[in-house]
Amino acid sequence: MSSLTHKVEPGSTISLSDYAPRYDGEVKRKDAEAELETLTTELDELQELLYGAGTHSLLVVMQGMDTSGKDSTVRTVFGKVSPLGSYVAPFKVPTEEELAHDFLWRVHKVTPRKGQIGIFNRSHYEDVLVVRVHGYVPEKVWKARYQQINDFERLLADSGTIILKFFLNISREEQEERLREREQEIEKAWKLSAGDWRERELWDKYMVAYDDALGKCSTKHAPWHIVPADRKWFRNYAVASTIVETLRGYKDTWMEKLEKIGEGAKAELEAYRAGDGT
Ligand code: AMP
Ligand code: MG
Repeated sequence: MSSLTHKVEPGSTISLSDYAPRYDGEVKRKDAEAELETLTTELDELQELLYGAGTHSLLVVMQGMDTSGKDSTVRTVFGKVSPLGSYVAPFKVPTEEELAHDFLWRVHKVTPRKGQIGIFNRSHYEDVLVVRVHGYVPEKVWKARYQQINDFERLLADSGTIILKFFLNISREEQEERLREREQEIEKAWKLSAGDWRERELWDKYMVAYDDALGKCSTKHAPWHIVPADRKWFRNYAVASTIVETLRGYKDTWMEKLEKIGEGAKAELEAYRAGDGT
């Protein structure tokens, strides 16, 4: 099942042109949609354990070209997770204050605390993507950032953060279709922007920047997953199952921790009752 996404090997050189955006793993849509329901329910249960144990946090990074479905994947995959245990941090054009700091300043502040799920809608990777494509900083500056990002993510991982990074891989043709759809639907009017069409012209440059970001910054403790994203149902299913499979690996540890917490609390309660005579 782990082949729904492509997990980028640490230290590899990749070319996104080798990955098919319409890949569906020969999964049937009906089956994927049914399975998604089960997975999202399980995700909510796993989040409760994550919270209760209080030993880890989960950081999910969402990246992708405009219209790749970052918002909608978040809504679908995390739709059943309690708002108490999760939040989304969107990364927009940096403010004057943010630009007056190092590029990780605004990022570190919004990393998830233990027990929480933090979802980055765009992320510190914009600082080696849009920034590189537009040359907002000199090459020397963005080039140093891959290592800086790896060091930063290492620190988060060493501090108990489970990190999963998803690149939603849509094709250029699919993007055009989705941009045109936005013009037709009044509910999507707020998303319309000429800027999207301008960025689209830089598609090839973005792909080169993504190849580098994914290859240089996929690590054992913070892997990148390339998600086939032309089919929305497959994209949602692939992201949900990757997250749930990863968290399942921690379930026993969290249950053990919860048992200990329970024992401690019960002992305290018994001592209280014994002293109190009730
Ligand atoms: P959206 O995700 O559609 O709301 O758009 C957010 C915009 O902010 C995108 O065009 C991003 O490229 C841009 N953005 C995010 N982070 C940065 C950054 N560090 N530097 C420049 N632009 C950024
Ligand atoms: Mg946009």
